[in-house]
Amino acid sequence: AAVLELKKIERSYRQGADRLTILQDADFALVPGEMVALVAPSGAGKSTLLHLAGLLEAPDAGEVVIGGRACGRLNDDQRTAIRRNEIGFVYQFHHLLPEFTAEENVMIPQMVTGMAPGEAKGRALQLLDYLRVGHRAGHRPAELSGGEQQRVAIARAVANAPRVLLADEPTGNLDPVTAGYVFDALEALVRQSGLAALIATHNHDLARRMDRVVTLEGGKVVPFRH
Ligand code: ADP
Ligand code: ADP
Repeated sequence: AAVLELKKIERSYRQGADRLTILQDADFALVPGEMVALVAPSGAGKSTLLHLAGLLEAPDAGEVVIGGRACGRLNDDQRTAIRRNEIGFVYQFHHLLPEFTAEENVMIPQMVTGMAPGEAKGRALQLLDYLRVGHRAGHRPAELSGGEQQRVAIARAVANAPRVLLADEPTGNLDPVTAGYVFDALEALVRQSGLAALIATHNHDLARRMDRVVTLEGGKVVPFRH
């Protein structure tokens, strides 16, 4: 069964006197273990789609279903709980907390959901090791390279063992070689955890390594054709 479903989603934005339609009657489904690339030009609506999927914004019509649960009628607390427990986000820029170490940045989301510090620390170190950045656990973001920062951001995103990983240009800020290595780590993690991932990227080499590539056309999510 799908872990993330978008059903007949509509989304438009007001722009001056007009409305700009981004999504119209858009459907999409992601099953556990699946890695899907979202490739579309700038401004096509990739971030909008990820925000809708991650319950960061609401569609004008249609339904977002996560783990079989329709999210449209949930209250803010229920939505926040789903965002914290079932969805991980990775952005183009890491958004790590600058005053905390790598390890603490990965511990914080776990402690927010009630995990004991010792347990949160153990999992943080395990994830940082898995992502090959364990030796940097005690460093603050400013002391890390771009690739290391993104590895830490990925560890943080999956710290609460979400079902769905949503990533918006996760390697977009890195040189191609570093991007490849960071993607290797991300892919290994997704493959071994059975997580479902939707990853917006401009990098066609990385997109080709995923199970499927989709794009946005006429307001719909459609298979990408070369
Ligand atoms: P809608 O009516 O579809 O909800 P609005 O036009 O009311 O959209 O805009 C929602 C919010 O987004 C407003 O606070 C607006 O200032 C902001 N906003 C407008 N244009 C942009 C843009 N291009 N990118 C990001 N935010 C924007
Ligand atoms: P992408 O991630 O593919 O670059 P976005 O989803 O960020 O595309 O944006 C799609 C379009 O919607 C753009 O034209 C953008 O300016 C517009 N847009 C995004 N957010 C808002 C908003 N809150 N209000 C108005 N327009 C927006």
